[in-house]
Amino acid sequence: MSVTEQRSGQVTLRIYCQSCKRDVDISVAKEVVENADTFPVSHAHLHGNPPHVITLYLDRQLNVRGSEVSDTATVERERKGTPLSAMPFSNSETPTK
Ligand SMILES: [Zn+2]
Repeated sequence: MSVTEQRSGQVTLRIYCQSCKRDVDISVAKEVVENADTFPVSHAHLHGNPPHVITLYLDRQLNVRGSEVSDTATVERERKGTPLSAMPFSNSETPTK
């Protein structure tokens, strides 16, 4: 696991995903943690094919205190319809290699 400071306001966390059997890079807005009232903060990241969710638990210093994988996920949208693109999920793999 490593934490890379990206552009200001975001950090990229590299986490080993048990489902993908590889490391995945997950970008998290620092304000999510900075504005949190309770710790650890959980952050869910939807990725992969088939899609699955990895949930990170972050402490105040943006250290990853734990993670867990959900092999399935459901997305419930409000009736008025929040566009999926507006949801805080990122399904883009970071092309850093
Ligand atoms: Zn995965």
